[in-house]
Amino acid sequence: MYNAVLCRYHEIAIKGNNRHMFERCLMDNIHVLLKKDGIDFDVKRVRGRVWIEKRDLSDFTENELAFVKKALSRTFGLESFSPAVKIKSEMSVIEAKVAELTPLILADYFAKKEVVKFRIRARRSDKEFPLCSKDIEIALAKVVADNCDSSRLKVDLDHAELTFGCEVRDEFSILFFEECKSPGGLPVGCNGKALALLSGGIDSPVACYMTMKRGCPVEYLSFHSTPYTPLETTDKIKTIAAFLNTYQRGGRLFLCNLVEFQKAVRDFCQPRYRTILYRRGMLRIGEAIAAKYGHLALLTGDSVGQVASQTIENMSTIDRATNMLVLRPLVGMDKNEAIRIATAIGSMELSSVQVPDSCIVFSPSQAATHSTVELIEAEEQKIANYSEIIAEIAENAEIFQL
Ligand code: ATP
Ligand code: MG
Repeated sequence: MYNAVLCRYHEIAIKGNNRHMFERCLMDNIHVLLKKDGIDFDVKRVRGRVWIEKRDLSDFTENELAFVKKALSRTFGLESFSPAVKIKSEMSVIEAKVAELTPLILADYFAKKEVVKFRIRARRSDKEFPLCSKDIEIALAKVVADNCDSSRLKVDLDHAELTFGCEVRDEFSILFFEECKSPGGLPVGCNGKALALLSGGIDSPVACYMTMKRGCPVEYLSFHSTPYTPLETTDKIKTIAAFLNTYQRGGRLFLCNLVEFQKAVRDFCQPRYRTILYRRGMLRIGEAIAAKYGHLALLTGDSVGQVASQTIENMSTIDRATNMLVLRPLVGMDKNEAIRIATAIGSMELSSVQVPDSCIVFSPSQAATHSTVELIEAEEQKIANYSEIIAEIAENAEIFQL
């Protein structure tokens, strides 16, 4: 019965002069997401809303609607969306449609509950329309009452289980009966590209999600230590990267074997500084890949104080390994907050699979919580071919198009 999907956005709507750029980006993203299935959808913008229709204007099938819902629930930049019925802006047409749909919509609700709390919400952007929003609501309430067992309906403006939505516009009107959540934020692609240091833990996938949400396309860089880490380590990362990538289009995974670097650190440097040295090496490899593939920032799942390598002192030492901007969206979060987001977005389950991480290879029993750049640089100078090792690891990155 639905012949359109109404999409709402919020943060873009309060943008100033460059609002059009954000809207264009959002529409392009929706277009690409919906193209995947080969169905001919049309994406349009009409005064602060985005519309999806089929090009032949026919109703969506159940499968098509399920596909569109899934795609839009992962589209950054959108606040919410509603499957909708698009009709002529004439009160008699609107009333006839509400009369026709009311029994259909209510059947599902009545099957589950004796009394259903409902409300009608009308908006009129066509100021020439003869009825104001309040009058439209009153007229439609009467239509609903006349077309169902009204003893089983209770008007509740604050806690309605069912909202009959009606928007009257110049060009057409729409009716809708549910509002589905989208993740909000800004459309991916309206900001610069970041390279995420992605581990199999909980934090870095959340960091990727949060950065995409601010409009940055994210690509992924992950380190393994084959043969000291098993194949499952990289399999897990591929699964997580592919999952995160469902929130954007494109995106590549760069897989690097860190083991030659780790061996050099093991052989020449003090054990207590290994994790700090690994992290600085990771940032430098990230910087080399970013320079080649056009990333403007690196991205990590660090959170202040979480582990020894994340004290302010050590983070400061690690940061000095690169001149690039390093984004750390989880910096002020505690673990429970990260877990809550990971659970909500669906990455928690993937992160919970237990496989060894590259960082624990040759890891010290006692990691330093204090360091200085001078001290760590002196450790790095003990590795004669430091730069060559870093360059070679970056050069040998395996690249997977997701
Ligand atoms: P956890 O959720 O267990 O804390 P984590 O991914 O945050 O996992 P940390 O040891 O806290 O692991 O590492 C801090 C950051 O360093 C990670 O968020 C990630 O950005 C980066 N990192 C760690 N290990 C790797 C790895 N093997 N490959 C790429 N990046 C890594
Ligand atoms: Mg962490």
